Parts: sequence; C-alpha cells; structure tokens
Amino acid sequence: MTRTDRPTVSLPALPDARWRQRFRRRLRHWYTVHARDLPWRRAGHPYAVWVSEIMLQQTQAATVTAYFERFTRELPTIEALAQADEQDVLRLWEGLGYYRRARQLHRAAQVVMQQHAGELPRDPEQLRRLPGIGRYTAGAVLSIAFDMRVPILEANTLRLFSRLLALADDPAVASSQQLLWAMAEAVLPQRDVGAFNQALMELGSEVCLVRNPRCDDCPVAPLCRANARGLQAEIPPPKPQRPAEAVREAAVLICRRGRVLLMRCPEGQRWAGLWDFPRFPVRCTRPAALKRELAEKARKLTAMTIEPGRHLTTIKHGVTRFRITLEGYAAQYVAQLDGQADVAETKWLLPVELDDYPLSTTGRKLSRLVAEALRR
Ligand code: SF4
Repeated sequence: MTRTDRPTVSLPALPDARWRQRFRRRLRHWYTVHARDLPWRRAGHPYAVWVSEIMLQQTQAATVTAYFERFTRELPTIEALAQADEQDVLRLWEGLGYYRRARQLHRAAQVVMQQHAGELPRDPEQLRRLPGIGRYTAGAVLSIAFDMRVPILEANTLRLFSRLLALADDPAVASSQQLLWAMAEAVLPQRDVGAFNQALMELGSEVCLVRNPRCDDCPVAPLCRANARGLQAEIPPPKPQRPAEAVREAAVLICRRGRVLLMRCPEGQRWAGLWDFPRFPVRCTRPAALKRELAEKARKLTAMTIEPGRHLTTIKHGVTRFRITLEGYAAQYVAQLDGQADVAETKWLLPVELDDYPLSTTGRKLSRLVAEALRR
C-alpha cells in the first residue's frame, strides 16, 4: 500500500492542561528516584551532552558509557576534537558502528571552531545546520545543555507518546509526526526542561519498553490511554520487516615481506573512512573456481596480482538486513600491475601497526588472525 492509498485515520486529541500538570508531577517524582547515574549527566557541559546524544543514536546507554568515557578523555573539548585526525576519531569510535556519526561529529566540531568561536550555537537553526544534527539532537542539546524550552522526539519518547495518546496509526507518517511533536511541546514545563526531557527518555527506555512495557511500575499508568484500553502491545504498530538477505563475502589478507595490505574504504561505501582488508562478495564455491575469483576480484580492487592461500576463518555477522558470511583467506602478493585500482589508498603495515588504524569489528577480528600468522 502506498502512502496515498492509506486509509484516513482520525488522530487522537492532545491531553488537556490538568492531565499535563498531573503527568509532569508524576514524571518528575519518578525521575528523582530512578534517574540513572550516567557519565554525560555527571559531566553536564554542552560538549558532553552533544557527544553522548550522537553516540546514543541507534545505541543503548549501557554500550555507550565506556565509549563516551574514553572518547571525552582523549578528546575533552570541541577544540581537541576539531584538531584530531579523522583516523584517531574513528579509532575511538571503533566497535560502536554507524561510523558516519563520528565523521559528522568531527566535521561539525571543525565548523564550530571556524564559524562559532568554539561554542555550540544556541540558535536552533544554526545548530541544525551543523553536520549530523537534526531536529531531535538540536532539541536534546539545547534543552539539556542550555535548559532552553525545546521539545524532543526520539525512539523512546515516540513510543511513550504514542501509547499515552493511544495513537493507532504508524508514528512515522507525517500526520503522526506532527501530532507527536505537538505532544512533546505540550507536555514541556516552564523550568528544568533538560531534566524533564531526560526523564521522558528514561521512562521510555526503562519502563515503556518496546516489548512487554512495565505498566505495573509506570508512574503515569493512570494517565495512559493505551493502558486503559489494553492496547500496549499493538501501539506503535510493528514495522513491516523486509526479509533478511544472505550474502557471502571474502576478505583476502595479502602478505608481503612480513607486512599485510590494508585499504581505505572509499566514500559512499559501508565503512567509508575506515580501513579494511580487500573484501568483496563471492559466488564460486568449488575451491579452484573460488581461488580464481579471489585473485580476479583482488586484482580489480588493488591492481595487484596475488596467490590466494588457505582458508583462515569464517565470521558470521549482520549489517542492516544482510546476513553476511565472511570467509577470510591468506594470500601472497605477487606483483603490482599497471592500471587503475578501484581503491585509491592502500598501505603495507606491520602487524603491530594495525592497532593504529580504525577497522570494522570483523576487520579487527581478521587483524588479530593476521598478526598471529605473521608472528609465527
Ligand atoms: S502505562 Fe504502560 S504503555 Fe502506558 S506509558 Fe506506562 S509503561 Fe507505557
């Protein structure tokens, strides 16, 4: 069904002033007791709020904590981040995934230094012009760091508001988004907006869970329309899942006089900016044909001839909707060819040098294997 074919769904009304007052009181009281002690809350300064909000996109707070502490220890200010090499920024981000976030954060820090005298702008429009800052992140930074009266809507508050309102429609469509942003604005108090917005997110992430929301422990349960109607499990409606696609890939660990070849992933690719071993999809399964395929694809990528060797490992992992089986192979460098390689930047590295380069999680696993193999 296309968006224009969708049946018209009447949207619920926003709650009245009395409801909003009771909601704020109950939420604030609950947060006073249940707020988690998180390092970015302790730090409190705008840079810490900004870094944490970028890290928390698509990632749980429990995972982010160690990354946040290391990142802000190594790069404690906007200036330090702006001056850092992108490779060092990505190395600090390694394992957190969605590396575009780190590159945009780095570029935004440089813009802040060049155009805003090193201070995050307090003007919402200016803030949203920085790379990687959308309406939600701007709202979080402005309200939490500067206590400005600005609403937020992210995955947790979107689910929470949808249930409080008993919004049956898809929350991603424009009419629902408009209603949910209006709700986010309507519930805001006049003061302590940053703490209030954090309390909303906390309630969404800790109590109003995606599956099996903890309604018995919820401080706003008497005000929740989904709870009153027993609709918690149906709101928000589940997104249609595209079936996972199985993909076979191979990485070749090409060695030459005790060094191994790494390539920088080009712009527009899955791990743009990171480094990787030559890697590509493969089709052949019979050993002789696969060996030819590895040599041919490595030649196209690197403009080198290689001699593929033994199979080293199989790593199964998922990226978005792809279920990837990655086979790692040893290979020996033979010769450099004339002509253009598909990748622009390659390096021959000693095993100890691999630690200095940002790799994907699977790339790091392969790097440990190659380090062991070359040490023998
Ligand atoms: S009562 Fe249940 S569904 Fe409603 S807000 Fe609380 S946890 Fe979410």
